[in-house]
Amino acid sequence: MAIKLFIPGPVDVAPDVLDKLATPQIGHRTKEASDLQQRISEKMQQLMYTNNTIILSTSSGSGIMEMTIRCLTAKRAAVFSVGAFGDRWYKMAKLNDIPADVFHPEPGKAVTPEMVEDVLKNGDYDVVTVTHNETSSGLMNPVGPIGEVLKQYPDVLYLVDAVSSLGGAKIEVDAWGVDVCLTSTQKCLGLPPGLAIASISDKAIARAEAIGPRGFYLDLMNVVNRVKKNYQYPTTPATPLMWALDYQLDKILNDEGLDNRFDRHARLAGIVREWGKRHFELFAEEGHRSNTVTTILNTKGNSVADLNKELMKRGYMISNGYGDLKEKAFRIAHMAERQEDELLALLKEIEDIWQLS
Ligand SMILES: *Cc1c(COP(=O)(O)O)cnc(C)c1O
Repeated sequence: MAIKLFIPGPVDVAPDVLDKLATPQIGHRTKEASDLQQRISEKMQQLMYTNNTIILSTSSGSGIMEMTIRCLTAKRAAVFSVGAFGDRWYKMAKLNDIPADVFHPEPGKAVTPEMVEDVLKNGDYDVVTVTHNETSSGLMNPVGPIGEVLKQYPDVLYLVDAVSSLGGAKIEVDAWGVDVCLTSTQKCLGLPPGLAIASISDKAIARAEAIGPRGFYLDLMNVVNRVKKNYQYPTTPATPLMWALDYQLDKILNDEGLDNRFDRHARLAGIVREWGKRHFELFAEEGHRSNTVTTILNTKGNSVADLNKELMKRGYMISNGYGDLKEKAFRIAHMAERQEDELLALLKEIEDIWQLS
């Protein structure tokens, strides 16, 4: 039996999208490859509400995180973290010898514009990283309002991890002043894992040009220059995934429509939150709860691992709490193509297994 995934990535992929992976191979130095990338760039610009340059990386999303913090920090990076993926930026900076500091709000609380302003005002930093949707804690940070603060600091680049939200929530890259917005294919975009995608502002490109050494495979400029020249890549890209992405973006933009897609994710989040509040408590503070994954505190103290084992027998999978929250919480994600009736059926199974009333 196929298991319906309610985990925060990888997600189930529609059969017609999977079929595109079987497109006959093409040469990556052909006009066909350039045309494919150009189409992807134009559609990604629509999805991200931006005119910035779009790049792909044949890596998971973390590849572009490492690429950008390394190639864009000249002075010092201020990492704002509300969980494990926020902390990952800091870890990457340290491992690459990039000067960085990490700032954490209280557990369950989002980053605030005031907090960012406070950190930036002494002028020590030239990069800020924020996780839009922290998958480990179920928090959604106010990337737009934080962007307003950053507009007063034109020398600071704004790097946003939208791995678990792009395609599931509206992210207005240009209006919010985001210099790098990055994502992976295996979450809200509804594709298999294996590609990372990002928008890169001209300001970020100018910064990268002046910084070195930048390495080879994860050199932002090596990738940007090649894409700008003829929509190709310095190394062989994952063309099968590009065919699937090109096709899936049409479905997102034209068949479902962006607003419908964002509304559907928000509606499903509303259902999980109401259910979570009725039977348990939510981890994330009100007003900053994720629209793609909900972290529910395991206040009844039942075994989450056992719950998942039983759910798997019934054709579903959810996620345990992440890191310190393992067994203390559980996470229900509903990314990409998950529908309301599927979610309601999952919640009924949990009620049955745990005898919730
Ligand atoms: C999944 C995830 C990542 C890591 O993405 P990979 O594609 O696995 O490298 C980073 N940030 C967030 C918020 C995520 O959810």
